[in-house]
Amino acid sequence: MAILDLTIRGAGIFGLSIAWEATLRGAKVRVVDPAGVAAGASGGIVGALAPHTPERWNDKKAFQFESLIMAADFWAGVDAASGLPSGYGRTGRLQPIADEAALTLARERAEQAKTLWQGRASWNVIEAAGATMAPPSPTGLLIHDTLSARIHPRDACNSLAAAIRARGGQIVASDEGPENAPVIWATGHQGLSDLSRALDRPVGNGVKGQAALLAHDARDLPQVFAETLHFIPHGDGTLAIGSTTEREFDEGSATDARLDDLVERARAVLPAIAKARVIQRWAGLRPRAKSRAPMLGPWPDRPGHFIANGGFKIGFGMAPKIAAVMADLVLEGRGEIPADFRVEANL
Ligand SMILES: Cc1cc2nc3c(=O)[nH]c(=O)nc-3n(C[C@H](O)[C@H](O)[C@H](O)COP(=O)(O)OP(=O)(O)OC[C@H]3O[C@@H](n4cnc5c(N)ncnc54)[C@H](O)[C@@H]3O)c2cc1C
Repeated sequence: MAILDLTIRGAGIFGLSIAWEATLRGAKVRVVDPAGVAAGASGGIVGALAPHTPERWNDKKAFQFESLIMAADFWAGVDAASGLPSGYGRTGRLQPIADEAALTLARERAEQAKTLWQGRASWNVIEAAGATMAPPSPTGLLIHDTLSARIHPRDACNSLAAAIRARGGQIVASDEGPENAPVIWATGHQGLSDLSRALDRPVGNGVKGQAALLAHDARDLPQVFAETLHFIPHGDGTLAIGSTTEREFDEGSATDARLDDLVERARAVLPAIAKARVIQRWAGLRPRAKSRAPMLGPWPDRPGHFIANGGFKIGFGMAPKIAAVMADLVLEGRGEIPADFRVEANL
């Protein structure tokens, strides 16, 4: 029998995606977040939905591949229900190829993508000369994959929240009274700290990241990954640059000179944005589980409580599939969570 009531703590991409999936399956859902929708890492601006390389296949890569494939229908459904744009677009990605060794690897991966990506997307080597907004590439060649997509993180969360409300779900700042319904804790980096205290061992922490949004309209062009930087053209005519990765940081998540360095580096890599105006600076704390993978499943020794955390750098890409497996587990008692993603992998 399906469970009809569900409480989700945390209105980031994990909590909202699970709430939406549960709503679609007929559950009466209440999302509780004292800070509001997308107040944490999910309120950002980057939104690369980019795949792992097509080689050395494992459960983690297969799970992410499925999630990226599910994304188009998932976000179309959300946007149709909300009437708002999530900013999803499967626009592909370009990466430079530095030398002969990288070219050999790129060609091997192109072959492996044919089977691993099941004909649903491809990994190609193309001439840089024919590509618009191409990053400089020493070999004159680029990798073009057709699986990468983009989303606007904050808009996507707002679209999800409106879709949940349109279908009768609640999103509230606080709740009262005893909890009879199962509870899913999707509480981001604070949740990892809370869990570390509750379990009396470190299970994860926040990792700071900074990003910038530029006024540069490349909405129909592929995203670029070059020199460890993501360049993500959004559907609203902006372009995001991400991100720093900072294990050591002061309390809070203010932007600082590290973001200036990042923007300067990005302008050097991609001349097309050399003069583009910076219109927003943003920083957030990524929830990184000890295993570095998503952390999903029952809360140990706390019946009726579940955890969905550890999105780290790819929380938006993983969200559709994570929503499905968490709904399977909590609403239907079915568990198909890969071993590497289980809570126990972090204990
Ligand atoms: C600079 C940067 C760039 C990134 N780029 C990408 C990218 O390109 N692609 C990608 O896929 N991912 C990216 N990420 C990662 C992505 O943002 C995260 O994986 C994702 O947002 C995590 O979502 P979440 O819902 O788990 O956590 P959060 O969004 O942090 O949400 C947790 C929520 O829980 C709430 N909360 C905390 N404690 C409680 C409590 N006790 N009760 C109720 N609510 C509580 C908080 O207020 C918060 O709203 C990036 C992150 C950063 C910082």
